Amino acid sequence: MTRTIPHLIGGSLTAPESGRFGDVFDPSTGAVQARVPLASSDEVRRVIGNAEAAQPEWAATNAQKRARVLMRFVDLVNRDMDELAKLLSSEHGKTFDDAKGDIQRGLEVIEFAAGAPHLLKGEYSTGVGTGIDVYSMRQPLGVVAGITPFNFPAMIPLWKAGPALAAGNAFILKPSERDPSVPVRLAELFLEAGLPEGILNVVHGDKEAVDTLLTDDRVKAVGFVGSTPIAQYIYETAAAHGKRAQCFGGAKNHMIVMPDADLDQAVDALIGSGYGSAGERCMAISVAVPVGTETADALAAKLTERVAQLKIGPSLAEGVDYGPLVSRAAVERVEDYIQQGVDAGAALLADGRGFCVEGHEEGFYLGPTLFDHVTTDMSIYREEIFGPVLVIARANDYEEALAMASDHEFGNGVAIFTRDGDAARDFTARVNVGMVGVNVPIPVPIAYFTFGGWKKSGFGDLNQHGADAFRFYTKTKTVTSRWLSHDTRDGASFVIPTMH
Ligand code: NAD
Repeated sequence: MTRTIPHLIGGSLTAPESGRFGDVFDPSTGAVQARVPLASSDEVRRVIGNAEAAQPEWAATNAQKRARVLMRFVDLVNRDMDELAKLLSSEHGKTFDDAKGDIQRGLEVIEFAAGAPHLLKGEYSTGVGTGIDVYSMRQPLGVVAGITPFNFPAMIPLWKAGPALAAGNAFILKPSERDPSVPVRLAELFLEAGLPEGILNVVHGDKEAVDTLLTDDRVKAVGFVGSTPIAQYIYETAAAHGKRAQCFGGAKNHMIVMPDADLDQAVDALIGSGYGSAGERCMAISVAVPVGTETADALAAKLTERVAQLKIGPSLAEGVDYGPLVSRAAVERVEDYIQQGVDAGAALLADGRGFCVEGHEEGFYLGPTLFDHVTTDMSIYREEIFGPVLVIARANDYEEALAMASDHEFGNGVAIFTRDGDAARDFTARVNVGMVGVNVPIPVPIAYFTFGGWKKSGFGDLNQHGADAFRFYTKTKTVTSRWLSHDTRDGASFVIPTMH
């Protein structure tokens, strides 16, 4: 019988009631390995009620004690790291080492969030008027929700849950239905670490579950990561229902290669960031922009040589550079884009279509694909492909390269490779993109800075992790307090108080 992945509600693994299920595959073999329940509105409403009942006591627990739960959680995840990474790899298709990276980048935000006692401190001004002090405090919102994508099934749930829980909220996670097992295991580890029941709930589902979270008044904030059309939908629907929302979407990240760049370093960076995790990263580089014909010709030649050496295979096999894509539908979608590139007249230097791994013929594999002479009007330049496809879009000069990254409708990440500090400074100041790398291809900020793209890559005004995460998951209360001595009382006033 196919294994059914449970919800985790109110501190217990909970059997589904809706009767609706989705398949969870092993992308390396193409076989169904489990089924995931798709919760009904009624089930989600019960989860919300549960979380709402549990939250006040958690909020009243002092921040340092809450932080200790996070500290214990870090130890438990490290204890179970290999088991978690294997499970993650078997449902997502990324390699074992990359799966560990997925978990580790999430843990780093938990470590940051364990600084909650400091991060939740308010401001204080004494003596702003006679006998008057003003101070502010950050208070949790109540019940908050996270809706997360398939491509980082550990990292992104932890980016959301860590700060939300540390700030005293109850958190409901609706993870991707494509790789839902690791989020459940992580929630179990939170319970083992001492998190009270009902404070972290994992409920699986599709649009029905998401829409319930978006429209129920008891949910005060929604953090989303996924594709741009859904990000925009979540942002608008949450806002229309009076909720805070931070919604992060798709990407088309450019890497500018200046004529003075160390070309071998640039090629290494492009190979790793373009094809790692089969290109299924929101910070993957999908567009290489060499500046000048000489740089472009040399880069295309070196990339073609390196792409031919990439090793693709089952995600848990040794020595594999990247594994399968997440689903058969993903392979078909990317293959369709490759055909669109060919039809539009781009030069196909490496064609990954029809790629097969011996003994795993049904797996969701796609070979590395490389295009040259891609122009800004082509769909393979304008749209997010989300697969192992790198396109070379040549620029005549620096200004043209800068404009390409700045004018693209996505604005998640961008990089420049150069030896010229002046060019790098100019680029970082002027480029219209949220996260910038200088000789760093995937500039995902570390946990204590914030993560967020611009334009169609992000909706909302506060980023993920770093100080913004605590701003997002708390509301500020400001207190103006007056204690007068008897001889300074001045009677009733009918004029608004000012500092005049
Ligand atoms: P997706 O948009 O298909 O799904 C994301 C979440 O939304 C899932 O939990 C899913 O169940 C839910 N969902 C899907 N359709 C829905 C609908 N119609 N109504 C309500 N909820 C719905 O994204 P995905 O395929 O899981 O993830 C890949 C995408 O995520 C890529 O576009 C990638 O760039 C993006 N991403 C962005 C970032 C970032 O920080 N900007 C990070 C990681 C991934």
